[in-house]
Amino acid sequence: MLYDKLAAIVAAGRISHAWLLTGRPEQTLEQAVLLAKALLCHRLQPDGQPCGQCPACRKIEAGNHPDLQLILPKGASVKIEQTRAMQYLASLEAYEGGRRVAIIHQAHTMPPAAANSLLKILEEPRAGLFLILTAPLGDSLLETILSRVVWLRLPENLPANGSDVYSGAYLAELNREQELHQEMQAKCSRLFELLAQPQDGAALLLLARSFRDDRQSGVALKQLLSAFLEELLAELRNLAAAAICRRHGEPAPNAPKLAANELQALEMAALVEEARRDVNANINGILLLSVLFLQMRDILQKNIK
Ligand SMILES: [Zn+2]
Repeated sequence: MLYDKLAAIVAAGRISHAWLLTGRPEQTLEQAVLLAKALLCHRLQPDGQPCGQCPACRKIEAGNHPDLQLILPKGASVKIEQTRAMQYLASLEAYEGGRRVAIIHQAHTMPPAAANSLLKILEEPRAGLFLILTAPLGDSLLETILSRVVWLRLPENLPANGSDVYSGAYLAELNREQELHQEMQAKCSRLFELLAQPQDGAALLLLARSFRDDRQSGVALKQLLSAFLEELLAELRNLAAAAICRRHGEPAPNAPKLAANELQALEMAALVEEARRDVNANINGILLLSVLFLQMRDILQKNIK
């Protein structure tokens, strides 16, 4: 069921072209889809609830309504390309019934460039286009965006409908991301474990070769390497920060257990940044990792006295 306060607004015909729903991610996504349903429903109920039976409601339930665009965060954030896609969509005519709805889930994760292109859409609303943003808290969005949306905080105890195809797909994606993240953390730990010991390189090459396409979960090697290098870079930055803190006698943040000074940590981080750029060029990923691991070993061995 659509949250009754939202349904009441829809029933009263006070339909804004831009909304913000805040609350838990699954809850806001579910309510955003229900609101989209109410906006697109052919037989809206007098209380503002979507009928659930008309062709529009059924298409939304099946996840294939042509006038509903769902923009989910990919990786950690809603990427600029996704917002561009929405902008393109916003410029098209609606297929059915004259209304189009775009949901930007977890809008607070938008990088500034994406937030700016969203702002352009909000500033020049197009007839028939409705935007629904979701976020855990409203304060995390730009003031200029907040001032142009109807903001509703969902109550904590709102019952979940549980059957929604969109939030189901979203949760599945979220789980995959978390699994990938944990897997890459384990690989990083293994790498630091190997680098902490004297290495002839064989074990490092073996670790590099352990990366391959994961056909079962549909994760391509390139994607895997991007996730791994991102994780590794964060760890190396922690390592550098910890070394700096130690030098100043300040409490150090959590960092990999590796005997390295800040120069070594930063040198390794620079190599990882370079590798991240190369992953997107068509370079052999396993070879790239092998070289990176050996270079990291050399940096550590060269300077340790
Ligand atoms: Zn309907």
